[in-house]
Amino acid sequence: MHKKTLSDITCKGNRVLMRVDFNVPLDDQGNITNDKRIVEALPSIRKIVESGGRLILMSHLGRPKGKPVAELSLAPVAKRLSELLDTQVVMAEDCIGTGVMQQALALQDGEVMLLENLRFHPEEEKNDPEFAKELASLGEAYVNDAFGTAHRAHASTEGICHFVQPSVAGFLIEKELKYLGRALQNPERPFVAILGGAKISGKIDVLENLFGKVDAVLVGGAMIFTFFRAMGYDTGKSLVEEDKLELASRLLKKAEDNNIRLLLPTDVVAATEFSAEAETRTVDVASIPGDMMGLDIGPKTIDLYSREILQAKTVVWNGPMGVFELEPFAKGTIAIARALADATAKGAISVVGGGDSAAAVMQAGLASGITHISTGGGASLEFLEGKKLPGISALND
Ligand code: ADP
Ligand code: MG
Repeated sequence: MHKKTLSDITCKGNRVLMRVDFNVPLDDQGNITNDKRIVEALPSIRKIVESGGRLILMSHLGRPKGKPVAELSLAPVAKRLSELLDTQVVMAEDCIGTGVMQQALALQDGEVMLLENLRFHPEEEKNDPEFAKELASLGEAYVNDAFGTAHRAHASTEGICHFVQPSVAGFLIEKELKYLGRALQNPERPFVAILGGAKISGKIDVLENLFGKVDAVLVGGAMIFTFFRAMGYDTGKSLVEEDKLELASRLLKKAEDNNIRLLLPTDVVAATEFSAEAETRTVDVASIPGDMMGLDIGPKTIDLYSREILQAKTVVWNGPMGVFELEPFAKGTIAIARALADATAKGAISVVGGGDSAAAVMQAGLASGITHISTGGGASLEFLEGKKLPGISALND
């Protein structure tokens, strides 16, 4: 996982082609409702601009399905980026073609151009080599700083690296590799992983990959009920994946056979319905009423898990502990976020991966207390599964 980075290349006088994640949320009028992704890309952008590079940015936006869709033009992003950089950003009319090539060749040192939405062309997601080659021809060096799409082999993430050298990681990806990579390859111990979320089926590979690496796994979210059912408990109306009971039994056995501390909650907050207004009760996991469903971990479990987290030197968290979107069931997730922040304050490295988990930490206002919050939902999950991300593998070692 030792990849060359933006710090290793010469930008001055060169056309530097950088893949970024400008997939920002837009309202009905086409206004950017949150510019976080643009702001996050600024360190890499500034580095290139300030060292005299001729920067060509490229990104996708939304799902135009391989054809131009006016509402999904990146023009509003170019405008916002111009404001943030206090310099004019040239908006290209497309991402390939002779017109774009001329605009690229006309760039002067320190100037910035943004290509039009890559996914206006079906070749982007198909990783078409001709298309990748055309994109590549615009630059003299390639930087990937879009972690969120690094798990996809697309023309702008993987294919392009075959046609332009050097191909290196931008600062955002460098940070992802530093924290996610170190946690998984060379963690300071004790290493505790916390796994939650909706479905056991989405997290099997993460769980199995972590089994070989962690000192303890703390499990929460809806997937606990599939484990409890597999253990023979009555789970009431809780979410259970009936077709994953055997798998759950196998995972429990594997943990036991390999002396892995797989911790499950001792109590849960149950409700009569999936609603913020529903009647709630805190119950032991062995006595969930038949007409209730578990929607959060209980106070005893919060205590137990928090103590484990506070002793850890490395903590990786994916998946909320409960239905944090509804206030009565957000306590477990918020308490775990706080425990992570407390452990971090004591010197631990804490990493949060996964779209909903990251949202929960921000919602709790605890983001600044965490060492690293991964910017890629699906990408961070695949990373935690131990998979190679094509957009990263393709970069120079
Ligand atoms: P991430 O995006 O961080 O990887 P997931 O997508 O796996 O996380 O899971 C997030 C979802 O899991 C949330 O929408 C949350 O409401 C849901 N969830 C957590 N606990 C429960 C539960 N006990 N019952 C039903 N849904 C739950
Ligand atoms: Mg999710």
